[in-house]
Amino acid sequence: MPTFVRTEKCDGCKGQDKTACMYICPHDLMKLDKDGSETGHAMKAFNQEPEQCWECYSCIKICPQQAIEARAYADIVPLGGSVQPLRGSDSIMWTIKFRNGMMKRFKFPIRTTPEGSIDPYTGKPAVDMGKIDQPGFFTMSGELKGDRSQLVCL
Ligand code: SF4
Ligand code: SF4
Repeated sequence: MPTFVRTEKCDGCKGQDKTACMYICPHDLMKLDKDGSETGHAMKAFNQEPEQCWECYSCIKICPQQAIEARAYADIVPLGGSVQPLRGSDSIMWTIKFRNGMMKRFKFPIRTTPEGSIDPYTGKPAVDMGKIDQPGFFTMSGELKGDRSQLVCL
């Protein structure tokens, strides 16, 4: 089920060009309604194509105002229940609300390094384009047309 924005909490990421939820959505679904012409709520974000939402929870986790929630599937989270994350710099807390009112919280560490500090290529061997036709290095050699060097980030 898609995400939705609690307009009373959203501050439009203080008018930045790109809001946090717009930045993080892998499907480009979140949009800021700057003048309120689309939703009636100026400077509030909204999910512009709810049926396309992956429910990946990325926007929910990144929103600094805790303004985004997801309607979870009824077979996992029955009506009246909710699953809400609260992300910190080194941990995430999941608040699970059951429909009988019971509440449980689970906290997990999420990282040991500062955000943005990881270089995914550190310690990896340099690309050797001479090996590209060998089995195990490239699997499309029989089908590929065009310049294969464009497929490798050097
Ligand atoms: S990230 Fe949160 S506060 Fe920022 S625009 Fe999106 S919903 Fe609003
Ligand atoms: S849950 Fe994921 S796919 Fe859906 S709006 Fe948020 S970031 Fe985009």
